[in-house]
Amino acid sequence: MNLIIMGAPGAGKGTQAEIIAARENIPAISTGQILRDAMAAGTELGKTAKGYVENGDLVPDEIVIGIVRDYLKSDACANGFILDGFPRSIAQAEALEKMGVVIDAVLSIDVSDDRIVARMSGRRVCKCGASYHIDYKPSKVEGICDKCSSELYIRADDKAETVITRLHNYHAQTEPLLAFYNERGKLIRVEGQEEVEDTTRLVREALAKVGGR
Ligand code: AMP
Repeated sequence: MNLIIMGAPGAGKGTQAEIIAARENIPAISTGQILRDAMAAGTELGKTAKGYVENGDLVPDEIVIGIVRDYLKSDACANGFILDGFPRSIAQAEALEKMGVVIDAVLSIDVSDDRIVARMSGRRVCKCGASYHIDYKPSKVEGICDKCSSELYIRADDKAETVITRLHNYHAQTEPLLAFYNERGKLIRVEGQEEVEDTTRLVREALAKVGGR
């Protein structure tokens, strides 16, 4: 299955991408995580991306398109893939079409802005890419990652002011993709729930209609 997951920042797309990836046995690629890894490693890509990511702005299209193009060519994607956080603009979606990539479904996880702002303050992440929420998806030991035992931290771009910018950019640049994929008959919308398991169930039911397990 070739799947795109969309949603406002904090809607739970990363969490659902991980769950679907495990169930379908396909890789999930998060452009946000690739950029954060590059920033932590201090590579050229990381240095270029840092200002945009920390301000809550989109990294220029040609940079993320290049990352995704390389990734989709790799053997890891031979049996399918999940794109988490890409495309985020019409230009990126058009670039994906030009690559000749066939997408089976585009899953949008819908959460209202008010709930997003309330949720983001509770998000905690790990350098290994794992993501938690102090109320909805707590780690077993407070402040420590279940997967690698590293200390959890608050993402620099989860500050309240930056979340507002990210939401604004989502509505202005990313939301038009809902109509783009709806016109192509690919769009599936699921209402994001407070409890992760409830969203997982709705996502699974929705994907079963397009061949998901
Ligand atoms: P995410 O982890 O998906 O919330 O992404 C974190 C940040 O990385 C975003 O706020 C953007 O600054 C950047 N980013 C991730 N994916 C993209 C993309 N497809 N296009 C442009 N910027 C992106």
